[in-house]
Amino acid sequence: MPRIAYVNGRYLPHRDAAVHIEDRGYQFADGVYEVCEIAQGFIMDMTRHLNRLDRSLAELQIAWPMSRKALEVVIGEVVRRNGVRNGLVYLQVTRGVAPRDHAFPKPETRSSIVVTAKKADPAAGAKRAQAGISVITVPESRWERVDIKTVGLLPNVLARQKAKSQGVHDAWFVDPDGVVKEGASANVWLVTRDNVLVTRQAETGILRGITRTTLFDVAKKLGYAIEERDFSVDEAKAAKEVFMTSATTIVMPVVSIDGHTVANGHPGSTTQALREAFFDVAEKTPA
Ligand code: PMP
Repeated sequence: MPRIAYVNGRYLPHRDAAVHIEDRGYQFADGVYEVCEIAQGFIMDMTRHLNRLDRSLAELQIAWPMSRKALEVVIGEVVRRNGVRNGLVYLQVTRGVAPRDHAFPKPETRSSIVVTAKKADPAAGAKRAQAGISVITVPESRWERVDIKTVGLLPNVLARQKAKSQGVHDAWFVDPDGVVKEGASANVWLVTRDNVLVTRQAETGILRGITRTTLFDVAKKLGYAIEERDFSVDEAKAAKEVFMTSATTIVMPVVSIDGHTVANGHPGSTTQALREAFFDVAEKTPA
């Protein structure tokens, strides 16, 4: 089945799909994006993802490229046309195509939209979650508005590359005082000795992950208390369990931080329970 991408009103073969060289996403990273997991033929948590898209667009004064209802149809169509039962659907919305000038273009400029989908092997994710992942820490180097899900991801790219070059999976952004912000593309959690889940407050300084939000519902169902507060790298190293959440990895155990082994070096039972319960609790929209 050939891959299909949706670009500004047309379904195109993936290899021929392209945006204009004067698209402001390309010229200025003047755009936002979303990623939803597709599991067993369902688009997961689409309502929350599109609510966050709405917020990102509003914060940057970018217009919706089409109605929300129409976008939901396009997302489902791209997933179906690509035959994706398990994988990811990505959408990018930019301020559109206009002659290069930093200030906003004419108000009639239409925002651009790209929707793509790709398959992922759930067994590979499960295997990785059985082993757990290793992370390094890097100094926070991003702008203040990381609460907006923009396509401007250069610090995240450099952080992930640094992790890769050191043979580990991911990197955490850390403030100068040692407080953990979040991963290159995931939120960070720990489990205390008393089985309380701790994650950083999301009002500022991090992206409010949709998986993070849904995990509050999962935790409630399983009877875990959650504390939203700062925690340091040292507290994470000494925690009973550490894990990360994102639409691409759901709940991923962390077993090593800067070369320090967390607990006994194996994923913990709380992390495992949260991962297992996630699918049942999340919103499922048939593609
Ligand atoms: N933080 C950052 C910087 C991210 O890029 C992501 C992934 N989009 C997340 C957190 C997790 O968000 P979500 O659970 O919505 O995928």
